[in-house]
Amino acid sequence: MQPFRYDRAREVEAASLAARDGHSEFIAGGTDMLQLLKDGVRMPRRLLDITALPGLARIEASASGLTIGALATMSDVAAHPDVATDYPAIAQALLASASPQIRNMATIGGNLLQRTRCVYFRDVSQACNKRAPGSGCAAIDGENRLHAVLGGSPDCVATHPSDLAVALVALDAVVVAQGVRGGRRIPLEGFHRLPGGTPQEETMLEPGELIVAIEIPAAPAARRSLYRKQRDRASFEFALTAVAAALDLEDGKVRDARIALGGVGTKPWRAREAERALIGAAPSPQSFEAAAMRALAQARPLAHNGFKIALAEAAIRRALQTLLGSDQCPA
Ligand code: SF4
Repeated sequence: MQPFRYDRAREVEAASLAARDGHSEFIAGGTDMLQLLKDGVRMPRRLLDITALPGLARIEASASGLTIGALATMSDVAAHPDVATDYPAIAQALLASASPQIRNMATIGGNLLQRTRCVYFRDVSQACNKRAPGSGCAAIDGENRLHAVLGGSPDCVATHPSDLAVALVALDAVVVAQGVRGGRRIPLEGFHRLPGGTPQEETMLEPGELIVAIEIPAAPAARRSLYRKQRDRASFEFALTAVAAALDLEDGKVRDARIALGGVGTKPWRAREAERALIGAAPSPQSFEAAAMRALAQARPLAHNGFKIALAEAAIRRALQTLLGSDQCPA
């Protein structure tokens, strides 16, 4: 591991200013950062510990929505009673993530900023445009069973690893960021970038900006939401595919529908076309099938990950059927 200096930040503006030097990285729970440091994937000259910043661990629920401070832990958010009842997709996504020990340490802000699990990214002997821009992509013609079928480019096909981000994208969450020029709010759906020709640029954050909170608006659909994850083993495993879904029904028709996918996209993937197949219609096996097909219509499989398309389509159908109160899959 490369030696680095360690400082504790005491207030947000000073932390943001200090981190603009191009050689510093923020650290909070450190559950991903420590792995990256040990593997030589990241080599900052300074780590700025932000865990002492005041007021960033709050979880506040009101009639208008939920505010989660960036330093709230995954465990605390998952266990919050208002999250479990009014935003079940968020609680379920958190409990499907990592292990209890990691959830006790990892923060919500860090979860959204965790780096991809692409094995070539984390192996510094391999070509990887995201880690070393211009070096190539070992995954394109390599072992790509776990890689993306949506949103990839010739330069990168890595999936985004966060379960939480998928649930938050489905529920129209907004990132509150703070930098030296002040604060701003960024819809989470546009927060993560597609890789294009610059896969090393992963979010809309500017140098020195840090996430201070996540806001989730209250909505009837949020109360009727779920998160389901398909993976190679039952715990402590990243998603092959995952779906966050939410429904609001009125007079036998769908008034609001949300679908977002994990494990298949280079960013948390909101399936807007799938939602349009549902809204205004009576829920039925046919409309669920149409939604599932639309969600994956733009999918482009690689050599080893074509199975993800059928798996994600089935997960969407089952999630919608579950939200209707039946375990019968329409397929
Ligand atoms: Fe790197 Fe992306 Fe290629 Fe993985 S898929 S090796 S992260 S460029």
